[in-house]
Amino acid sequence: MPRFVADLDDEMLRHLVETLTESGQAICLYDAEDRLRYANTTYHDMFLGDYEGPFTFPEIIRHAHENGLGVRIDDGDVEAFIARTLARRRSVPRKSFQTDLVNGRWFWMDHTILPNGWLLTVGADITALKHDERSLRQAHDAALLASRTDVLTGLPNRRYILEILDERLTGGKQDGTKLCVALIDIDWFKAINDSYGHEVGDAVLRHFSAVCRERLRPDTYLGRTGGEEFLLLMPSVNLEAAAQTVEHLRADFPSARIEECTVELAFTFSAGITEALPQDSRSSILQRADRALYAAKTDGRSCTRVR
Ligand code: GH3
Ligand code: MG
Ligand code: MG
Repeated sequence: MPRFVADLDDEMLRHLVETLTESGQAICLYDAEDRLRYANTTYHDMFLGDYEGPFTFPEIIRHAHENGLGVRIDDGDVEAFIARTLARRRSVPRKSFQTDLVNGRWFWMDHTILPNGWLLTVGADITALKHDERSLRQAHDAALLASRTDVLTGLPNRRYILEILDERLTGGKQDGTKLCVALIDIDWFKAINDSYGHEVGDAVLRHFSAVCRERLRPDTYLGRTGGEEFLLLMPSVNLEAAAQTVEHLRADFPSARIEECTVELAFTFSAGITEALPQDSRSSILQRADRALYAAKTDGRSCTRVR
């Protein structure tokens, strides 16, 4: 026993209880039959309000739930919550957990079963920490998204689309899922820049990306790998279906209406398609797609070639 506990007299005990009662921590004691025997002001405000009993744990939870107090119950089923909580409330001599309240505050709760079977609960308000945690998580998510996104088009950038390619190649080796890739390159793009300026070129790239995303199935991945070059990943399809997808993309591709210039800009693109082989690495599959794209370019552009 710590030395100071032995020295406690009645006056000291009274002071101690007064201090605990006004503490910002939530403190309460339930006896072995789960009747509330002591609650300080903070715990009282959290769960009891003007409640006048009976003060058993289940009745207190019911009262709190009906009066917009106490812990937040996700599905609103207070009886299921009570049953779940009673089953594990005294399962171990000591435990800690976090809980959020109906009023949006978060508490770190510390449960201790005392030698006489009473249950001491001390809860610390961690709302500010949870807000910090959420801000950090949001900042992390935003940074991750930015690191993966091409600023001009909003598509996955080179690094991210190649990461997805790596994952798909590995996954395909494990479960045999097919994968086709297409390297897509806008034809004579330099001429658009030279004739209308770089900003119009940028607008054409944005237009191209938006139309592709609209026309492609949601289970495909399109990323911008460089200037006017894009990589399209088509999981679970064979070469024939992949070629059809790209031809569908090409069919009647709408001209870009650019605010900055009065003309409608019609343009075409070429594509090189290939299917993942079991021994493929990122570079071997991209080399094949690149050879197919080169063939499409030398065959006159505005067409698709397969390797
Ligand atoms: P090809 O049909 O053989 O593909 O000819 P091309 O003119 O499309 O290809 P080339 O590689 O000669 O030119 C691509 C041009 O794309 C050159 C480069 O200045 C331009 N470019 C690269 N990145 C951007 C960009 O972000 N915005 C704009 N507007 N132009 C870009
Ligand atoms: Mg080009
Ligand atoms: Mg190019």
